[in-house]
Amino acid sequence: MPNAICISCGFYKIEPWHKCPSCGFDRSSNDLALAKSVYMSIGRYETQIDKDRYHLELEKMAQEIRKGTRIDYDKKELNRLLHQKQIVDSISLFTVVKTAFRIFLPGILFLGLLVAVYFLFRLLRN
Ligand SMILES: [Zn+2]
Repeated sequence: MPNAICISCGFYKIEPWHKCPSCGFDRSSNDLALAKSVYMSIGRYETQIDKDRYHLELEKMAQEIRKGTRIDYDKKELNRLLHQKQIVDSISLFTVVKTAFRIFLPGILFLGLLVAVYFLFRLLRN
């Protein structure tokens, strides 16, 4: 069962953002191509039940694309995916680093405290 299909030729792909191994279509050409590629993948669903159901639809759509039939994308879903892309793009690297630092700071401080206690006991033993 496919996890994703190429929006250009209908060939199966592992991930929607990968370059198509069959026709070489690269979704990085524009945001709409990426949104359509995600649309044509199980990655837009969270539950396994939805993913299993969508596998069957993906296979049908892959056959349609291979026949040359134009896929009618749900505009509301495409807009939702484009909006998610804009949100992800709006997050700066600084924000990611700052958030990671906040998450790991207590652990780093705890390890530093353990190292300090270790060397303190070593000093006191000698
Ligand atoms: Zn392709």
